Amino acid sequence: MLIFILYQYTANYSALTDMTKEDKPESEVLLEEEVAGDAVEAVKEVVEEAQEKKAEVVETKQKPQYTKHKDDRRGAEKSVEWVPKTKLGQDIVNGKYTSIDEVIATGELILEPEIVDYLIQNLKQEIVYVGGSPGKGGGIKRTATRITTRMHKSGRRYSMSSLVAVGNQDGVIGMAKESGTDHRAAIEKSLKQAKLNIIKIKRGCGNWECSCKGTHSVPFRIEAKHGSVTFVLLPAPKGVGIVADEESKKLLALAGLKDVWTQTYGQTGTRINLAFAVFEALKKLSRVKGELIKSQSTKPIPVQV
Ligand SMILES: [Zn+2]
Repeated sequence: MLIFILYQYTANYSALTDMTKEDKPESEVLLEEEVAGDAVEAVKEVVEEAQEKKAEVVETKQKPQYTKHKDDRRGAEKSVEWVPKTKLGQDIVNGKYTSIDEVIATGELILEPEIVDYLIQNLKQEIVYVGGSPGKGGGIKRTATRITTRMHKSGRRYSMSSLVAVGNQDGVIGMAKESGTDHRAAIEKSLKQAKLNIIKIKRGCGNWECSCKGTHSVPFRIEAKHGSVTFVLLPAPKGVGIVADEESKKLLALAGLKDVWTQTYGQTGTRINLAFAVFEALKKLSRVKGELIKSQSTKPIPVQV
């Protein structure tokens, strides 16, 4: 009778053994019961552990994934990928500088183009058309890259060069010319270098007709030269717009100038020299010291009758 009860009890747990309990002595059955009990406990433990793990996985899935910077700036997305290599880059990621003007004011050399991407939200870029091919009827079709050729004993070797400008249309502009083996490489290299060459220009209103004390034009006449090209910037009143050729206009608009007259002398068909002359003129505005705009509290001059 005892054996029968034990058999029923163990039958629930021991499904592994095919031996009939009737043939076995009592001691063996007891042993089997103990073994079966241990196995069941072990299985229970494993199941519990698995359930705990599942719960942990669910918890981790529900946890929100925070990025390093919680603000919704454009650079925040890139900050995850960008690992700054220079001390200036690390300072910017840590929040020491909040704008590009502060970085330029310190005079530190920018060695990573990601710094400019990180700090300037609305950075715009323009490709100055420096290349060209002589067309029929005397016209020249302008292209983005300039192709130059050198002779090799096995034929010709070509290299492309391009000129790219970047700016925020609010006083910050950079420009660079680089060359590569194809169009894409040349433009990418120029873009990368243009971000490192950024300057901050000071604007003003030096036109006697306007006298608005704004920043829509240049504060005075500026003249700069590169190669044979001489480029002159003249302050213009509001509403005039940028009076220049298409390529110079791209650069002046990126710099944030709205109303300006220009003059050019020399071989302006060499667009590289023209673009560099414009950039030299803007560089002169970046070296202006002091505040150009006086406080608005100045009293108006009394009219003498
Ligand atoms: Zn004005």
